[in-house]
Amino acid sequence: MSWSKQSVGLLMLAMVAGCDKPPAAEHPMLEIHGRTMGTFYGVKVVGDFPGGQQALQTQVDSLLKHYNDEISTYDPNSSLSKFNQQQTTAPFPVSQDMADIVISAVRVGQRTQGVLDVTVGPLVNLWGFGPDRRPVKIPTDAQITAARQRVGIQRLHVDVSADHAELRKDIPNMYVDLSTVGEGFGADKIADFLESRGVHNYLVEIAGASRSRGVNAKGEPWKLAIQKPTDELDEVQAIVKPDGRAISTSGSYRNYYELNGQRYSHIIDPATGKPITHRLVSATVITPTALEADGLDTALMVMGPEKAMAFAKQQHLAVYLVIKTDKGFKAEYSETFKPYLVQ
Ligand code: ADP
Ligand code: MG
Repeated sequence: MSWSKQSVGLLMLAMVAGCDKPPAAEHPMLEIHGRTMGTFYGVKVVGDFPGGQQALQTQVDSLLKHYNDEISTYDPNSSLSKFNQQQTTAPFPVSQDMADIVISAVRVGQRTQGVLDVTVGPLVNLWGFGPDRRPVKIPTDAQITAARQRVGIQRLHVDVSADHAELRKDIPNMYVDLSTVGEGFGADKIADFLESRGVHNYLVEIAGASRSRGVNAKGEPWKLAIQKPTDELDEVQAIVKPDGRAISTSGSYRNYYELNGQRYSHIIDPATGKPITHRLVSATVITPTALEADGLDTALMVMGPEKAMAFAKQQHLAVYLVIKTDKGFKAEYSETFKPYLVQ
């Protein structure tokens, strides 16, 4: 979720493929779209929703606005911005949702040995991908070293009790950036909301992160397309059937800038303090929750093609990578991903 860019990732199969089978019985479907977290979202509900389409739109918009108000680093009044602005190590009261998202993000960070690090914000900003302006010059080593002193996931803490939650930081000028898991978190929350309203056939997409369950309007399992890493929005790389699971894609091919002939991506390697430079152009992950998938796809992007595939194998993760070669692009996927691919 970087709040002002074209999103990478998934697109509804219906948008990209004609139907060559005889049409199955159509079920009624409600469909809404909107903007959230600096990007687009879409929700499809097959069957009824209490109050109909209008109620669905109003309630989803209001939930997403609520979460955006909590975790946006682009809104100086969000709860997360207030925590970032607080230049002390005193505990900072937060909602249970905020505690949950930070706990999950830190957990993905630990699982990936700090490759995913939501305290990487000072570096994201330094390289021009946060709410701050884009740099006119590449940051100096001294600036990178200074920013890195403010980074470190082990220095961020969440304390939760039955009726209270708070965040704590060991260094006063830490800056937390939940952009990388926000879309997934939002998709999970909307999926939970739909389930709570008795909806069991739906597709929720927030930019590159999605959650789906059940069947589409044709009564068939949802299918999604992984985009080709090009500037064209509707070119299909692969088609997958997530089968009730979450899927998220991260890529370095849309959100970047060029300076003196060099491409700078919005994904930062915390080990170097610099944008990634290897040949992995997109990573797609299928996991039970969208937050997890959204965090892991970014982590895989940081790792690069070889380490990402080794990690996928070791963790039995369903992962699909697109890698740049001298001749174009090639795809590699883990064994665990195979059953989701529609041949
Ligand atoms: P997208 O914005 O395309 O959905 P991601 O989910 O991959 O992308 O998140 C990328 C964003 O995460 C960056 O714009 C930046 O704000 C933040 N970020 C960059 N590098 C890291 C990292 N190593 N760990 C955590 N967050 C990162
Ligand atoms: Mg991500």
